[in-house]
Amino acid sequence: MSRPRRIGILGGTFDPVHIGHLRAALEVTELMELDELRLIPSARPPHRDTPSSSAQDRLAMVRCAVQDLPLLDVDARELARDKPSYTLDTLESLRAELGAECQLYLLLGWDAFCGLPTWHRWGELLDHCHILVLQRPDADSEAPEALRNLLAGRSVADPQALVGAGGQIAFVWQTPMAISATQIRQLLASGRSVRFLVPDAVLAYITAHGLYRA
Ligand code: ATP
Repeated sequence: MSRPRRIGILGGTFDPVHIGHLRAALEVTELMELDELRLIPSARPPHRDTPSSSAQDRLAMVRCAVQDLPLLDVDARELARDKPSYTLDTLESLRAELGAECQLYLLLGWDAFCGLPTWHRWGELLDHCHILVLQRPDADSEAPEALRNLLAGRSVADPQALVGAGGQIAFVWQTPMAISATQIRQLLASGRSVRFLVPDAVLAYITAHGLYRA
């Protein structure tokens, strides 16, 4: 009997996408033996400041970044919507397309995970997927109070022990990279190089389109 498909999803503003995102995506894909990992750029993040490059540029940069990575893919569904891109809506539409059996893994950096209690109907996210929390070396170590019960009831020590289509949480200790898009925007705004922090194809796009200049 064939095993259910395993799909990972990593949402973000990707303003711009960087090697912290890509290395985490690749390592989780290999660790979890995913069939595919989708990077999903968000259109109008409900709980963030407006990104400083257009949705079109952010999408184009993510496409450049994954072009030679067969298991990494770009999913532009949130950019096609005209309302805020709630992760729950995205999960519901993915679940409707992929079917009830598919194992869905939502990747969240530790910072994003800690912000979960502010998300739209966050208590329902695990109805649709498992959550894999990615370490970020620059993050605080304490989970907020609101997440303690959830962690106590739903977390599993070994990510490979997650069972079923969704409902559990595990932590993934991938290669730590203290890189953020904020840092990259700041470097570019002050005329410094971001070589080796983003893939060369992304750097070429940034340069060609004059993005993030002061
Ligand atoms: P910004 O600095 O603009 O806030 P960011 O670098 O955090 O951006 P996002 O697009 O907001 O990037 O991140 C998308 C997802 O990737 C989030 O879940 C975030 O926690 C995670 N992430 C971002 N950078 C890293 C990193 N260096 N290591 C692990 N996870 C990361």
